[in-house]
Amino acid sequence: MDCIFCKIARNEIPSKKIYEDDYMLAFNDINPQAPVHILVIPKQHIPSLDEINTGNSDVIAKIFECIPPIAASAGLINGYRLISNCGSDACQSVGHLHFHILGGRQLPANMA
Ligand code: AMP
Ligand code: ZN
Repeated sequence: MDCIFCKIARNEIPSKKIYEDDYMLAFNDINPQAPVHILVIPKQHIPSLDEINTGNSDVIAKIFECIPPIAASAGLINGYRLISNCGSDACQSVGHLHFHILGGRQLPANMA
């Protein structure tokens, strides 16, 4: 499948990996918007938040269990922001579900 994040999950495109297990991968964003900018993806191809369902939500639960320790290991002791852009109004640019972990500086209160 011609999906850039599937290719990263299959090691066909290099990435700076932060964490990996059978279900998910966390890696540094190539165009960081903050001192720490990590992307967390399921290894299976889920296009966006809109395609989460009872058949794949176990993977989403595993991802959410791993996000706090990933943030802690990145040194985000003062907090962080978790974002998932879904669809065109949110400017989703990669059609493979991903969660942005942003931190390492004071982030603006207004996200939009
Ligand atoms: P979004 O706009 O929410 O779909 O986020 C997509 C993110 O993927 C952007 O922050 C990009 O910088 C990031 N990105 C795109 N290609 C790569 C890549 N090859 N390695 C790491 N991050 C990438
Ligand atoms: Zn994919």
